[in-house]
Amino acid sequence: MRYLYFILIVASMFFRGAYADVEKLKFSLHKLESSQQGPTILVIGGIQGDEPGGFNAASLLVTEYSIHSGNVWVVPNLNFPSIIHRSRGIYGDMNRKFADIKPDDPEYDIVEKIKAIILDKRVDIVLNLHDGSGFYRPVYIDKLHNASRWGQSVIIDQAELPDVKYGNLQQLADEVAQHVNKIISRKNHWFAVKNTHTREGDREMEKTLTYFAIQHQRPAFGVEASKSFLTHERTLFHLQIVEAFMQKLGIEYTRGFNLTSRAVKQRIDNNVKLALYENRIFFDMARARARLSYIPMRKDSPLEFSSSNPLVAVINKKRYYQVRYGNRHVTRLHPEYFEFDDSLQNVKLEIDGVLHEVKLGTAVKVLDKFKVLPLEGYRINVIGFRRKGVRNESGLLISRNDIARRFSVDKSAKFYRVEFYRGNRFCGMVLVDFTSNSRV
Ligand SMILES: [Zn+2]
Repeated sequence: MRYLYFILIVASMFFRGAYADVEKLKFSLHKLESSQQGPTILVIGGIQGDEPGGFNAASLLVTEYSIHSGNVWVVPNLNFPSIIHRSRGIYGDMNRKFADIKPDDPEYDIVEKIKAIILDKRVDIVLNLHDGSGFYRPVYIDKLHNASRWGQSVIIDQAELPDVKYGNLQQLADEVAQHVNKIISRKNHWFAVKNTHTREGDREMEKTLTYFAIQHQRPAFGVEASKSFLTHERTLFHLQIVEAFMQKLGIEYTRGFNLTSRAVKQRIDNNVKLALYENRIFFDMARARARLSYIPMRKDSPLEFSSSNPLVAVINKKRYYQVRYGNRHVTRLHPEYFEFDDSLQNVKLEIDGVLHEVKLGTAVKVLDKFKVLPLEGYRINVIGFRRKGVRNESGLLISRNDIARRFSVDKSAKFYRVEFYRGNRFCGMVLVDFTSNSRV
């Protein structure tokens, strides 16, 4: 079986997806590469599907970071089917399949693919991001803080990988932990370094991704944020650790937000944008209703989508499509099938008294009122707008209160669909965004 997965050079912020059965979702590799030579870090998130701190951090690396020297390769969704199912592993623990895996294991292809990426000559170090229970502490403090816990630790399999660049694992992990602990204000949230001494007979750890890397002369570290924290807090800790590694290796970067708990939460919660059919349809799904009806879809052809976030999946459920984002449910798209018409790219809207040329498949901010200028041969349907005897809503001045709230895309009733048709064919959609109107 040919195995498809996506290698994406991050140029635009939209990632092409394929609709699929959950079990067939493939992970994506995002190469954040700079023109300045330097080391390459491979960051992996989501080897277990119920550890959202790790995979959200990896996803934010992809969407929010620019690399200016060296390279960061990111797989934010290694075990994508399990992420979507919110399960540690729908076929068992993937992180126990790296020493030995049977060819008929459903995850055989995924494991072989990620092994090949780990062994790529350009990869200098590997970080595998996890969320772990409690707080690892070398000596027993209490039930939650002791040596058998995993949270808030940087994990190494052994102290040294002789004759390998960055093979001073213990030293590097110690420096990273110290670096991060300087910016973590509460001492009981600090990171500690845990050496599992895998080679000395840890049968469980021998089967892991990091030990596979170590055995092949690739420096590798596990990073565990504590499950005692909320997702965005774990994500923040992960990003602090990854940044510390980047700094130690001399990888220069910038990011699009301040590294605070609040900003991280805002980024995780709000970056769920979905475009269908080469951007003819665009949704901001941040606070979408649980179900959206009469979504125009192309007759007799598979759904194409792209998303602002590599953790978004659109799952074919036969009668509807389920939109998932990491561990979260976003919405259900209930289709209405149409032939499509490609003749229209841009439309004219008067927004708050000013004329705009608007590309189909985009969102426009409206403070008060909008009007779609009449288009010969086309019909305009503002979803939720009702006026007796009106079937074409072009040329009408429409305010937020003219549209029934229950037709909004979002729960706060601020996003509405304006659809364009030619005869019975669907041309595309513009999303009208009333979020800047504080009165609604
Ligand atoms: Zn884990």
